Amino acid sequence: MIPGARLIILGRQGAGKGTQCVRLSRHYVVPHISTGDMLRAAVRERTELGLMAKEIMDAGGLVGDDIMIGLVEERLGRPDASTRGYILDGFPRTVTQAEALDEITADRPIHVVIDLDVPREIVLERISARRVCRDCGTNYTASGHDPSPWICDVCGGDVTQRDDDTPDAVNNRLDLYESQTSPLIEHYQLKGSLVVVNGVGHPDHVFKRLTDVVEGRR
Ligand code: ADP
Repeated sequence: MIPGARLIILGRQGAGKGTQCVRLSRHYVVPHISTGDMLRAAVRERTELGLMAKEIMDAGGLVGDDIMIGLVEERLGRPDASTRGYILDGFPRTVTQAEALDEITADRPIHVVIDLDVPREIVLERISARRVCRDCGTNYTASGHDPSPWICDVCGGDVTQRDDDTPDAVNNRLDLYESQTSPLIEHYQLKGSLVVVNGVGHPDHVFKRLTDVVEGRR
């Protein structure tokens, strides 16, 4: 085990980031910081942030940079992340967010940024079958013969389709990924911290590729 890993996982929606990040966070015993999960929790709790974010999320848009940067800065300052490390999932998503993160992490830089690469055609197929536990975020794949109600094996929560996994919202998110998030690949390439990992294949094989990269870089 490598203590204190600080990682960013980039990649298209539906590339399997969430599942791999949960697994990496258990493997390296560091918190999994998912901005999507933080926003979904705010929506469930009907906080001011949640009420504002819900409409944007359901349409597949992006929540404002200032709000997201504030949220992540506060989260990275908590004891678990500031002493142990973390896996950032879903942040940064714009160049503005990446530049702010460079400042926030100036004293404790990110070890490696991984672009989990899965082509658009494949992620479209995966997202339509994606089901997620509302409580712990564990991902499942629908087969057409699924239990109803569907109960999460990990925590007993309800497994459902996300409100923003409709075809229109998914296409919006993928377009935004190409225009707003893919420039980050160049940002991190220039900093020398980017590694592209092939995200196609059995999840166990993808996980092995990810840990090989992390261990090779530290
Ligand atoms: P996915 O990767 O499947 O699109 P996430 O769970 O990472 O989904 O995020 C869900 C939604 O939350 C996004 O579509 C977006 O509306 C919002 N969101 C999450 N992270 C950010 C971020 N860093 N900046 C702006 N909006 C975000």
